[in-house]
Amino acid sequence: MAEYWEGEADIVVVGGGSAGVTCAIAAARSGCSVILVEKYGFLGGTAAASMVGPMATFHTKSGKQIIKGIPEEIVQKLIESGGSPGYVKDTIGACSTYVPFEPEFLKLVLLAAAKNSGVKLLFHGWFFETIQKGNEILGLKVVTKGGTAILKGKIFIDASGDGDVAAAAEVPFSMGDQNSIPQPMTLIFKLGRVNQQDVVEYILKHPDEFYPGTLFEELKTSSYIGVSGFFSQWKKGLQTGEIQIPRDRILFFSGVRKGEVMINTTRIIHKNPLNPWDLSEAEQEGREQVLSLIRFLKKYIPGFQDCVLVQTAIQVGIRESRRIHGEYTLTEEDVLNGKKFETGIAKGAYPVDIHDPSGKGIILKQIGGDGSYDIPFQCLIPLKISNLLIAGRCLSATHEALGSCRIQATAMATGQAAGTAAASSVMERKELRKISIQKVRKILTETGAVV
Ligand SMILES: Cc1cc2nc3c(=O)[nH]c(=O)nc-3n(C[C@H](O)[C@H](O)[C@H](O)COP(=O)(O)OP(=O)(O)OC[C@H]3O[C@@H](n4cnc5c(N)ncnc54)[C@H](O)[C@@H]3O)c2cc1C
Repeated sequence: MAEYWEGEADIVVVGGGSAGVTCAIAAARSGCSVILVEKYGFLGGTAAASMVGPMATFHTKSGKQIIKGIPEEIVQKLIESGGSPGYVKDTIGACSTYVPFEPEFLKLVLLAAAKNSGVKLLFHGWFFETIQKGNEILGLKVVTKGGTAILKGKIFIDASGDGDVAAAAEVPFSMGDQNSIPQPMTLIFKLGRVNQQDVVEYILKHPDEFYPGTLFEELKTSSYIGVSGFFSQWKKGLQTGEIQIPRDRILFFSGVRKGEVMINTTRIIHKNPLNPWDLSEAEQEGREQVLSLIRFLKKYIPGFQDCVLVQTAIQVGIRESRRIHGEYTLTEEDVLNGKKFETGIAKGAYPVDIHDPSGKGIILKQIGGDGSYDIPFQCLIPLKISNLLIAGRCLSATHEALGSCRIQATAMATGQAAGTAAASSVMERKELRKISIQKVRKILTETGAVV
């Protein structure tokens, strides 16, 4: 395939997921030309392609909103489009609120938001290599249907979830727990014709069968529910061999349409999402688990007798892969103590949520302090490279801290911060490490974000 110069912009963003879209919008609104490269033909990333939701979380446990700005605009557009009811109580009790949404609407809302801001989209482009002069990136090589495109820019942003750009630029990274095993992957699927009333009636009669934090009173009135439990039925399914999924419970959330639920219960462990054979096996295992799960749900779980499969996600959901090493690494202590930083550019309020990389359980640890923590700008600056930022799931954090800050609202907030910082660097003709972080914080506040 012949190489040719395909595009040039002030800022080139790789990845059109939660972080990449808000990043590109923020940079474009600041007056920069922006190209966003995405391997799929739509925006939304894990939230759309892997049908992962609901969006968590915009509020602390006590109800204070700690994420606004572009992520808040997206929530409002989803509500207007009929693609979401907006903020609802988390009936599992893991966090205060979350936002159920229909992935198909998310794709449309994000596309409109990106286009209205002037972002140039390169779909079906797969980044694979950096072109560098020492520690500066000059361009990115992207596989496209038309051959290898080269995208030149001043600042590059890695919002690929997997940290592909930083890794190609040989920035060091970590992956997984102390044994380098990442959190499990999960293939989400949507079922229709579920009788939510029967589900709720059962839960209220058998509270011990569910996550102890469950808001039982809330379940009585809420149209949108999250459910974590059915412990005994699950155990029975494992004992009879009807299901062979390494986990201890069923987890699902109401979809946006009545009778639809998003099932977050498949689990694929001990696979490296960056290894193509492992990823291929994970896709197969995930889909095989869907079939056994549907049979199991129909047989044992009240409300699911008549359920039908509506959709499986396009790709298996990846909770964790590369955590790129940055100028600062967010730690579990920072998160759990609700630590604040003078250079904070985004916040998180979701508990540390770790699906056991090797076993069956889920660990949830709540945030202390005032219920939210800061992510300092330095977590977005990868080591070694002068003109690259990282945003979203691949930012610089430990395995445990990422258990909290990987979620969508926080990923979007880090995206807006990265796009704003990149634009400051371009507009002021200053290197990324020399821009005033206080000025970036001021712009973020003026543009509605919370820092
Ligand atoms: C099973 C599961 C359950 C979860 N549950 C929740 C939940 O309930 N609530 C919540 O808020 N969060 C949840 N999360 C976490 C959350 O969904 C993700 O961490 C978050 O969406 C990551 O956003 P991101 O923008 O960093 O990455 P992504 O959304 O993954 O975006 C990365 C984008 O980059 C593209 N890309 C990747 N590599 C390349 C490349 N080389 N070239 C071009 N494009 C590329 C991808 O196609 C994708 O669009 C869950 C995650 C999983 C997997």
